[in-house]
Amino acid sequence: MALSDVNKQIRNCRKCRLWQDAKLAVPGEGPLNAKVMIVGQNPGAEEDKTGKPFVGRAGKFLNKVLAKNGFNREELFITNIVKHTSPKNRKPLPDEIAACAPYLKAQVKAIKPKIVVLMGTVAWQAPRLEGVTYVETYHPSAAMRFTKIRKRFEEDFSALKKAAVLGTLPHKHV
Ligand code: URA
Repeated sequence: MALSDVNKQIRNCRKCRLWQDAKLAVPGEGPLNAKVMIVGQNPGAEEDKTGKPFVGRAGKFLNKVLAKNGFNREELFITNIVKHTSPKNRKPLPDEIAACAPYLKAQVKAIKPKIVVLMGTVAWQAPRLEGVTYVETYHPSAAMRFTKIRKRFEEDFSALKKAAVLGTLPHKHV
């Protein structure tokens, strides 16, 4: 399915309860041919208002870590495993994750990135596609709060950039 069709479905989604309290679904943003996809948990208040991923506090922190490690945000496709915000910013429930995860799978199929970075335990539940490398790291909100996690988070992005520069990332697509 074309990415534009997947994103249209996401914007009209009623597969779980989350749409009822949300203003805008957040399909994600970035180029159709992105080599790296970055996946968070689900939109917060700022993202819900703007329809864009990672534009609030966690997003600003993520931007800094990306820039520090030589990534250009515009070259990445940034999204979440769950596409609507949740009441009082609670963690998405298992049935909400299960309902939404097929959209991420369809986005990965359309974009065919080399690598998908899953940030945080909710994103780690993403369905895997053969031929794509999945990297698990922490969520930027946790990295902002805890020094040890911040260190690991920054190291993960630094390692990712080095692997990309050295061309040691796998190239296979499904
Ligand atoms: N946290 C997330 O997991 N995703 C966003 O888009 C914003 C904050």
